[in-house]
Amino acid sequence: MPALKIKSQSQRARPSPRAVDAWGWDLLAIKPVRRFMVSRWYPGAFQAISLVLFGMVVYFGLFSTIRPAYNFATAVTWNLWWPLLPLSLVLMGRMWCTICPLVPPIELAQRLANPTRMPGQFLRRYGVWLMGLTFIFVTWANRMWSIISSPRATALLLLALLGLAVVVAVLYKRRAFCRYICPIGTFTGLYAMTAAVELRSNSAATCDGCKGKECYRGSDTVGGCPLYQYTRTMDSNRNCNLCGQCIKSCPHGAVELRLRTPGRELWLLGTPLLGEAFLVMMLVVVVYMQTADMTTAWADYMRWLLGNTALVDYNLAFTLTFVAAILAVMGIYLLVTRWASAPGAWRRNFAAFGYAYIPLILAVHLGHNFTHLVSEGPKALSAAFWSVLNPLGTATAPVQAAGIPMLNQAWMVPLVLLGGTGSLYTAWRISQKPASGGGKGKLLPHLIFLLVLTVLFVQLFLLPMNLRHAH
Ligand code: SF4
Ligand code: SF4
Repeated sequence: MPALKIKSQSQRARPSPRAVDAWGWDLLAIKPVRRFMVSRWYPGAFQAISLVLFGMVVYFGLFSTIRPAYNFATAVTWNLWWPLLPLSLVLMGRMWCTICPLVPPIELAQRLANPTRMPGQFLRRYGVWLMGLTFIFVTWANRMWSIISSPRATALLLLALLGLAVVVAVLYKRRAFCRYICPIGTFTGLYAMTAAVELRSNSAATCDGCKGKECYRGSDTVGGCPLYQYTRTMDSNRNCNLCGQCIKSCPHGAVELRLRTPGRELWLLGTPLLGEAFLVMMLVVVVYMQTADMTTAWADYMRWLLGNTALVDYNLAFTLTFVAAILAVMGIYLLVTRWASAPGAWRRNFAAFGYAYIPLILAVHLGHNFTHLVSEGPKALSAAFWSVLNPLGTATAPVQAAGIPMLNQAWMVPLVLLGGTGSLYTAWRISQKPASGGGKGKLLPHLIFLLVLTVLFVQLFLLPMNLRHAH
């Protein structure tokens, strides 16, 4: 049984999450929901489906046509799954991470290797930065090698992630890869914080008196929390994938899955992290550039850059722009927090207010992905069916279903404004907390930065767009 380093956590004088919850309606009180969550079908049935789809993506990616518009791998991965992922995070928290196809291979590897080590201090301390680096690398690599336009590269990327996940699974108990390394974990955790559901302990007293702490350690029949969470002290969705193991293992029925006001966790969070604020700022850049990349203005900018500077290589020009944008946004955010914070408290301010920017980024990300889904989803579905009926990809490709034209995204503007308003409100709520490191009246710098970002994103959606990133 793993060592349980939760004594200090349980001693924190934190209010029971129930005490600050507005709705608190426990979904597990609905009998069919509870029965399903504790059944052996959950999450196994979903994992089986996603594993089959993963196998198909790899097969078609490696062996079928190299035309991305007609290949199952690119169509399903980039035109269906990828656009739907952020939406699933808003609706169901990080549940994707429990039905992810990498989970069964991770569990198989651990059954064979039986690792005994828990993640050490390095991973626990720097995992969030590691995740940011893997995310930046995958984003950059995608642009360099046009992974989303290449079935082969798509399959190889997924196989590389599978290989890395298995290696980490052999080294550490439970899911160190998902918690500390997975590039997707960068935003799944952050966006899951806005979800309308949360899994928490429903009784601090019961948990404090509980000897077994089975939710964390596991029981004779159910494993411990794969993401190293102790439900008694959880105040965030970021590291809960709703796998349901704690529901199955808790002998006191002290775990509940409740509805809540979406986003409230962003300002109630008791443990803001500097690294996560860094990830949020990085997402600002990635989401902006991914959307800008769809505009005709981006092509004009790149032409200008290549024609008026010493740069002649497109990839180098893109890389320098990417790095410069990350440094610029990070630098501005640093200045904003320096201006906004009380003396000696900028780190707290940097960490706490980072979460205020999530609603805006999420809205832009949803708008961006929705554009792809509606425009390209019908074609992707027909490509997927065609691939399955034609596994070698040698038949003549059919005429594809037309997507709904989305070249004018002006109607995305209300969504961005909604996100911006959510961010402003979140910033105001965070500023009310003494632990946010700001003095009275020091909300202004964050409000200005948020307004500037909102205007920039609105302006982005008003520009003429192409459908797919291409150069
Ligand atoms: S096993 Fe149940 S009662 Fe015990 S600490 Fe975990 S959630 Fe609380
Ligand atoms: S807290 Fe419970 S549901 Fe969440 S990851 Fe841990 S075991 Fe799974």
